[in-house]
Amino acid sequence: MSLIVDITYFVTAFIFIYGLKQMSSPVTARGGIVLAGIAMLAATLVTFGVPQIKLDANINLVLMLIAIAVGSAVAYISAKRVEMTDMPQMIALYNGMGGGAAAAIAAVELVKLSAGGVSHGMVVTVLAVLGAIIGAVSFSGSAIAFAKLQGLMKKTLRLPMHQMINIGLFAAVAYTGFVVATGHPVDFNMVVIFFVLALVLGVMVTLPIGGADMPVVISLFNALTGLAVAFEGFVLNNAAMIIAGTVVGSAGTLLTQLMAKAMNRPISNVLFSSFGSDGGAAAEEDIEGSMKEIQAQDAAIMMAYANSVIIVPGYGMAVAQAQHKLKELEDLLQARGVSVKYAIHPVAGRMPGHMNVLLAEAGVEYDRIFDLDEINPEFPLADVALVIGANDVVNPVARSNPDSPIYGMPILDADKAQNCIVIKRGKGAGFSGIENHLFYADNTRMLYGDGQKAVGELISGIKEL
Ligand code: NDP
Repeated sequence: MSLIVDITYFVTAFIFIYGLKQMSSPVTARGGIVLAGIAMLAATLVTFGVPQIKLDANINLVLMLIAIAVGSAVAYISAKRVEMTDMPQMIALYNGMGGGAAAAIAAVELVKLSAGGVSHGMVVTVLAVLGAIIGAVSFSGSAIAFAKLQGLMKKTLRLPMHQMINIGLFAAVAYTGFVVATGHPVDFNMVVIFFVLALVLGVMVTLPIGGADMPVVISLFNALTGLAVAFEGFVLNNAAMIIAGTVVGSAGTLLTQLMAKAMNRPISNVLFSSFGSDGGAAAEEDIEGSMKEIQAQDAAIMMAYANSVIIVPGYGMAVAQAQHKLKELEDLLQARGVSVKYAIHPVAGRMPGHMNVLLAEAGVEYDRIFDLDEINPEFPLADVALVIGANDVVNPVARSNPDSPIYGMPILDADKAQNCIVIKRGKGAGFSGIENHLFYADNTRMLYGDGQKAVGELISGIKEL
């Protein structure tokens, strides 16, 4: 049986990696996810055949099956019901669950040791402690990220001497972790204190991280969860956990690096400075000009007679589910000989690839979609930049005002287009909560309304010409 388990783990590991590879393109991503899911199911089923499970009298198979059934049902129902715009929160939650599960495995192991259980050796105990720290931080940190994305709490919350408290907490977690790892026997109270401190550390690290840095932090927690699962895989001597954890950890680390690079920020700055926090006031004081409204019919004429139009979608496009209308608009403009391109900022929306997924769903060709570096030189040549539901990712203050909390973040240069039309419902701020100078620029016109409705009006306007 043990051989069958090992072979299945090996094959599933291969499928995890292949599935992940498939996710590098929207065309194959769906198949990749299904494949990886099947592999995960196979790995879970075969684990029931692991010899220790049958031999260990403490293992309650009924409880395990109930937990799996409840977890699967909750996940299935919530995944079916979740709105596309709420996906980032859901991902943060699932990330946290993974970290929490890894920390729980460590907790069981360490509590067993405190009750006089047999140690699997120093290395295993150290790995359990490391996995516990990382998993617990990822669990409570992801819970805070969830609350922020869900709008349940303030985007940034900074206590007096926050960094000092965090350094103190980190030292306390490291110390208690060391005591737990080296204690013979392990003191139960110390295990409890260690876990509480690690959970508080996750909360405290995440509290001050604000708007524009959230994508990097969510991705970092994803990587940490993978690492924690891999460590606990060593504790349980489970190859599938080690491999899956390592794959998630390394993929998450690469994504974190890419996101941090896209934001022009070292990870250490994300974690230890206040970028993206409140503080928009300084940027708001020196705004010149006023917001100038445009009617859909006039905007339609402007676009219909343009040579080139660059569409900049953002979170509001996702909220309005305007991608299908945008595709219709694109087809109409192309038919009139207007060149249409889409400009995608790496953190537009609320999750990596958010805009790409929605545009792909609407049937937009991939060769019309351009990354920030590719498209920015083209803005000055474009007749119209159509910004739909994007805000932070087109805020020129990131280029011009060192006092701005988003200073240094690369943005899409929509303000450099000959004309800029911004579709949004009103004067609502972006995720980072700061004013946008683009909306006040001389060449910008505001087309107020829900994204889907406004694009619908543009389409009608062009059809009437
Ligand atoms: P923003 O969140 O900055 O702005 C969205 C804008 O859309 C708002 O100003 C809002 O204005 C408008 N809007 C909302 N609903 C509608 C609607 N139905 N129709 C038309 N407009 C609407 O979006 P961006 O995409 O520019 O920036 C993403 C932000 O989210 C960045 O700060 C990023 O750091 C952060 N983030 C990104 C994550 C990622 O992985 N991509 C994850 C977590 C955070 P109004 O209310 O007036 O309509």
